[in-house]
Amino acid sequence: MKSQYFTEEHELFRDSVKQFVAKEILPFGNQWEKDEKIPRDLFMKLGEQGFLGINHDEQFGGSKADIFYTCAYLEELAKSNYAGVCAAVSVHQYMATNHIAEAGSDELKERFLRPSIEGKKVGAIAVTEPFGGSDVQSMRTTAVKDGDHYVINGSKTFITNGHFCDFVVVACKTDLNAGINGISLIVVERGTPGFSSTQLKKIGWHSSDTGELAFDNVRVPISNIVGKEGMGFFISWKVFS
Ligand SMILES: Cc1cc2nc3c(=O)[nH]c(=O)nc-3n(C[C@H](O)[C@H](O)[C@H](O)COP(=O)(O)OP(=O)(O)OC[C@H]3O[C@@H](n4cnc5c(N)ncnc54)[C@H](O)[C@@H]3O)c2cc1C
Repeated sequence: MKSQYFTEEHELFRDSVKQFVAKEILPFGNQWEKDEKIPRDLFMKLGEQGFLGINHDEQFGGSKADIFYTCAYLEELAKSNYAGVCAAVSVHQYMATNHIAEAGSDELKERFLRPSIEGKKVGAIAVTEPFGGSDVQSMRTTAVKDGDHYVINGSKTFITNGHFCDFVVVACKTDLNAGINGISLIVVERGTPGFSSTQLKKIGWHSSDTGELAFDNVRVPISNIVGKEGMGFFISWKVFS
């Protein structure tokens, strides 16, 4: 029966994802589960095929295809049965980079979104903390302005791609007295002094790395903020919904 939603073009695209999964994921998925890691190569190959940009603007290398391309893409990735691969790729493409795409400056988009679409950089989004996940308002990670930098202190846990990512969009309190109006999103790059991570052991989804992150007086330029100061909660709300 002809689908109401998927056109011939969507189906051709779906076939290309199916072929990609058969060639680049199925033969290796078991080994990645043992390794507790997905090779960088996979992101590069997804990027070369243009898959990582189907939801992003053409200006930064994406193709801004309609939502049914995303449905076909995520359905075919999920049919691989390697949920760890799906988690790692979808958090990178639809959660971490989406915050930058939604509210980041053009400079941040050039530095992080474009290479993410190309598969050259992998991103993470860090909201959850050891002291609470659902209750975002009570987060303890802080970012304090010092000249033209923010100084970040705190910790995050259960962060997908957290141990192997190149950058992480970190939710921090920039105003301790403003509740949800005091939360901001700041990009921290791997290698920034004071930023460290460890990989958590899980009972499944082993190939998806899940990290615990520590921020010990991490200095990042003020220009690394995603959107306006204090708007982090609302940007995340929009991206997650
Ligand atoms: C594999 C994996 C990957 C993850 N990846 C990420 C990631 O990339 N980035 C990130 O930021 N986080 C990530 N998380 C964390 C996830 O978002 C949190 O686990 C989630 O927000 C819940 O937080 P929590 O585990 O602290 O549970 P809690 O907040 O302690 O909640 C525990 C239970 O209590 C319930 N509950 C909480 N508050 C209330 C209330 N007021 N009233 C009634 N019931 C309540 C919840 O519904 C839940 O059932 C990941 C988690 C897992 C397991």
